[in-house]
Amino acid sequence: MQNFTTNAINLKSYNLSETDKIVVMYSKEKGIIKGVAKGVKKTTSKLGGRMDMLIANRLLMRQGKNLNTICQAESLNTFKNTRKDMDKLFYSIYCSEIVNCFGVENDPNSEEIYELLYKTLDAISMSKNKTELLMAVIKFQLKITHIAGYSLELESCVCCGGVLDKDNIYFSSKDGGTICKECRKNEFKSVKLHYKIRDFLNTLLQLDFDTKTRYDELATEKICDFCFNLLKQHVEQFAPKKIKSGQILEMTR
Ligand SMILES: [Zn+2]
Repeated sequence: MQNFTTNAINLKSYNLSETDKIVVMYSKEKGIIKGVAKGVKKTTSKLGGRMDMLIANRLLMRQGKNLNTICQAESLNTFKNTRKDMDKLFYSIYCSEIVNCFGVENDPNSEEIYELLYKTLDAISMSKNKTELLMAVIKFQLKITHIAGYSLELESCVCCGGVLDKDNIYFSSKDGGTICKECRKNEFKSVKLHYKIRDFLNTLLQLDFDTKTRYDELATEKICDFCFNLLKQHVEQFAPKKIKSGQILEMTR
């Protein structure tokens, strides 16, 4: 049996027996991995709380025939501020569910996705207000769909490829981005998008997660909430599975 080490974030778990759990994680090296956490439900377990949801660990794993076993876990980040705030918790669960949904085993983009989820969970945990929290989630939504190959089109009309007139930009989640006035005639569900919001989203899409922009000062909760909802539809349009926590978020808003 071979051992390997990896950094991974716990996405969810289910019971295997009275004392053991199977933990589904997103790892930096191998994408989605599953591991048996032996004895984790006993109070004396050395893995303890490190196998709870939304914790990033450095793991020592033993490769098994069918299932890997988690031998050791050293926590890298428990995102502790998230654990005492329902809003932060819901949005963190939403992001981790999306990673579980788009992620695959032996993911070639695993490092990029791991870093994105880690930074997002950290930014949510550290956020000082709802606007900061939503900014982190919006960046996550833009980047995860980009990595998964469903990048949002924001520069031209996604239907005809035409140039957009800045006063007549519409957004169609079904088509995956901005559409022009003409194409809008066939898209009843599209919504009008102010060019400044288009520029805001385009800037966040182009730049690295950590890059500060003037929008960090300019963005308001109302604008971020509007963008979050547009991107939520965009994610749902291309997600291979239903995002259940998205519905919970709708109920709690
Ligand atoms: Zn068009």
